Amino acid sequence: MDQQRSLFDTQPDPWDLDDQQHRVVASVVFTDGLAGTFDYEVPESLLEKLVAGQQVKVPLGRGDRLRLAYCVHVQRKAVTRRLKMVHSIADERQLLTQNVLDLTSWMSEYYLAPWGKVLETVVPAGVRGRVGTREVTLLFVPKAVLARTDLQLPPAQEKAFQTLAGSKLPLTQTQLCKAAECSSGPVRALISKGLVETKTGRTELAKPNALVKEDANHVCLNADQEKALSSIVDAVRGRKPETILLHGVTGSGKTEIYIQAIEEVIKAGRQAIVLVPEISLTPQTQRRFRSRFENVAVVHSHMSDADRHWYWHQIANGEIQVVVGARSAVFAPTPQLGLIVIDEEHDGSFKQDKIPRYHARDVARKRAELEGFPLILGSATPSLESWQRAAEETYRLISMPRRVLDLPLPDVITVDLREEYQERYFRGAIGNQLRRAVEEALQDGGQVILLLNRRGYSTHIQCPGCGEVVRCHDCDIALTHHREGEKAVCHYCDYEIPSPTRCPKCGFEGIRYGGLGTQRLEAEVNAKFPRVTCIRMDSDTMQKPGSHEAALQRFKAGEAKILLGTQMIAKGLDFPNVTLVGVINADTGLHLPDFRAAERTFQLVTQVAGRTGRGMLGGRVFVQTLNPDHPAIVAAQRHDFIAFAQSELPGRQTLNYPPFGAMARVVIRGDVEKVVEGFADSIAQHIASHMPAESSYRVLGPAPAPIAKLRGQYRFHMILQGNEIDPIRAAVKSAQVTLTAPDSVQWIVDIDPYDML
Ligand code: ADP
Ligand code: ZN
Repeated sequence: MDQQRSLFDTQPDPWDLDDQQHRVVASVVFTDGLAGTFDYEVPESLLEKLVAGQQVKVPLGRGDRLRLAYCVHVQRKAVTRRLKMVHSIADERQLLTQNVLDLTSWMSEYYLAPWGKVLETVVPAGVRGRVGTREVTLLFVPKAVLARTDLQLPPAQEKAFQTLAGSKLPLTQTQLCKAAECSSGPVRALISKGLVETKTGRTELAKPNALVKEDANHVCLNADQEKALSSIVDAVRGRKPETILLHGVTGSGKTEIYIQAIEEVIKAGRQAIVLVPEISLTPQTQRRFRSRFENVAVVHSHMSDADRHWYWHQIANGEIQVVVGARSAVFAPTPQLGLIVIDEEHDGSFKQDKIPRYHARDVARKRAELEGFPLILGSATPSLESWQRAAEETYRLISMPRRVLDLPLPDVITVDLREEYQERYFRGAIGNQLRRAVEEALQDGGQVILLLNRRGYSTHIQCPGCGEVVRCHDCDIALTHHREGEKAVCHYCDYEIPSPTRCPKCGFEGIRYGGLGTQRLEAEVNAKFPRVTCIRMDSDTMQKPGSHEAALQRFKAGEAKILLGTQMIAKGLDFPNVTLVGVINADTGLHLPDFRAAERTFQLVTQVAGRTGRGMLGGRVFVQTLNPDHPAIVAAQRHDFIAFAQSELPGRQTLNYPPFGAMARVVIRGDVEKVVEGFADSIAQHIASHMPAESSYRVLGPAPAPIAKLRGQYRFHMILQGNEIDPIRAAVKSAQVTLTAPDSVQWIVDIDPYDML
């Protein structure tokens, strides 16, 4: 039906039928950054075949070189000039449904990114390239034969037959022989008896690892959960495109609510998407969903292209009930979506940091609106954007202020590091109070999580003689010393040198390694608790696919008593035996030049605190900080999100920052500083003269970005602010179409930015 509609979107008026100027026109977009849509005439031979959402080949430019493009629209319309013809259909699969076309069209407009680039993000490379399939002959047992009970077969044939009959998917002859451990003879015999038939097709993609539904232990919801669930279920049944903010403290049973809401969606024959931060795609999360639903697809970044391709088709065919994945799973081609859940909705990973710079929350909102279903945003520490929208009643707020089973939230004790430093013997990462707490927790048979949000050994290398800080050759970033390999590494571009033993500038030999990283913390833990096994989790130790899972498995099994690491360990983990969480330094992110610095700190401390006290053993949290009176730290100590919001929002309002005012950021970069700066100035002038004259609209900058040099390129940025985003977008768009950057300069536009560095 959809295909028919898009083929002749506008029916010709009857009196126009004879008009020779009417043509069937395909609008296409290119994927290599060429902005705008281009019209081509659809030749007679493709009239019945071409639909929006397919890839086509079309001639472009003087030389009419054939280029790949997405067809986004087919309609009969009057044309005033001769159009070039569509050359051919490159892929007969309709890769994009009308819904997804509408969604991506909106994204292209809103984020000021070429539509074709948006489509490249939406259709995974493995799907475009049909990775993992080829043309083959497939064997299957016809339905009529399956029903027969009178078969008398020789053993080898019997085994081959049973193997094929028991396989959910058709198999190639090679696959079948291998599975049934037989030669090709018995298989050929089965074919000649008509018990097995053949068809050509593409190889079914190999089904990724065995997906088994586990035993579900049904949970009886408590009163808060019941209430939350019933209003979500109302929205699901009514197909209301409503956004519900589920604010529930860590361990209040949000995930259980998602699961039961999804059960409702599935009963109605629809599908659901659950977005979680990439790092939370642990086996624990997977198991939770797999144990409750028959057909779950968990899509993550370590997945092979072939697996991704397999799932994509399963999802598009409606075979998958629940898609669980990171940011890009918001584009899953579910045919009848009934619900999107975004867990930990405040998490920064839902914003993409390359083109198109979309936020999955806003894309999900748009999709909910277009397709008619509710969106649930869940968090213990909602983003202030969502919180404010709930306050304005754009979103519906549901609160769950208590943990399940009346478990108390853990006591959080702040440790004033200034006092600890005054004690003569304290040098390292773990102060006396925290050390004692670790000892007690271990004595009582508990486990410990230690958070330090910096990897490496020492986070800076500085000469006390001349003050020189050893920096990256290509970036304006201090190098981090890594003990493994004794090297100094840039965490932005991976530039590395052997760690210097004397100052590279003045030659002084007493160069100092300062600042704490996870490697040094690990060394200290090993020294202070020599008989205790400890696991370090950061992006250095977790490079191999699967290492994350393996580490968590060991921790869960109790093989290791202490888990230390970066923010990787702060989210989603549910280990009842963890009775102590230590935050080594709560201030690492507090003073970054970013208006969300306090919000991020609050979120991180609250999230990691939530990892303890989840079992009957209770739990405690020690937060070491130099800023014990900072509102973000005080609120985290009290588990008081509302207090944090109340302390943070007035300042945002005064400065007209989000969630009050709208914001966009432009970054300009290139090899030659003067050229970059000059072009940044012209952009700023153009934008300033195209924004409303009203006082809320302003251009801050251009100025060197906080990271003024990255990978050898100088960086300038400007912040655009105003009451509404649309006039800002219009001004930026005008600059995009008017200004041409010098050859060596690129500039990027970030609407609703999260990265301020
Ligand atoms: P959240 O997602 O809010 O952090 P979870 O859904 O992970 O909370 O719940 C925390 C733990 O409590 C889980 O182990 C979950 O199985 C369990 N749980 C959830 N709801 C209930 C309930 N009503 N009764 C008992 N246990 C529950
Ligand atoms: Zn660098």
